[in-house]
Amino acid sequence: MKKGRLIVISGPSGVGKGTVVKSLMERDPQVRLSVSATTRPMRPNEIDGVHYFFISHEKFEEMIAQDLFLEHAQYVGNRYGTPEDAVNRMLEEGYDVILEIEVQGGLQVMKRRPDAISIFIVAPSFEILGGRLRGRGDTDEEKVLMRLQQARMEYLVAPQYQYIVVNDRLEDAVSDVQSILRAESLRTKHQQHLLKEAL
Ligand code: 5GP
Repeated sequence: MKKGRLIVISGPSGVGKGTVVKSLMERDPQVRLSVSATTRPMRPNEIDGVHYFFISHEKFEEMIAQDLFLEHAQYVGNRYGTPEDAVNRMLEEGYDVILEIEVQGGLQVMKRRPDAISIFIVAPSFEILGGRLRGRGDTDEEKVLMRLQQARMEYLVAPQYQYIVVNDRLEDAVSDVQSILRAESLRTKHQQHLLKEAL
């Protein structure tokens, strides 16, 4: 069976990457999302084992010591990591696996898995990003400015990603990601079987 592809998707808070990923999975049953482990407290309406594996700092340290993470990083005071075994299993089963992770982790994955496809999602402008963060209603202005500052730092790393997708209209952003996946599958290295006849 053909192995699946590893896809890193990053982008600043408020850009709507979760919505893009969710919508992509609805369109493409071959796509699965990796469930990360985190030390951050569970939010209302989150489910342990579905949105994250919510674990203690001690358990997180233990998993690092046992080399169980494909990547891990700290983000606004909490730790996040991708359990490697589950990802490998899904790839072996032929699924394309999405890691929706922040940029430090994204860079680690690109280094360890040079075959990974990396996509950075941006908002049409910083002004629009700020508007989206404010539109969430639950964030005070100080938090919005902190998130925008964090976004600026993430944009500095974005040039190291292979693709940049603008999330203006959701449908277009999802189609763009699908186009990337399609084009990747047409790369010569994946099409060698079509050339065999002539050899
Ligand atoms: P949140 O706490 O809002 O769910 O996520 C905060 C940030 O952590 C988001 O940018 C999210 O993509 C990122 N994140 C989630 N899981 C992981 C992970 O396993 N590794 C890394 N490096 N970042 C993650």
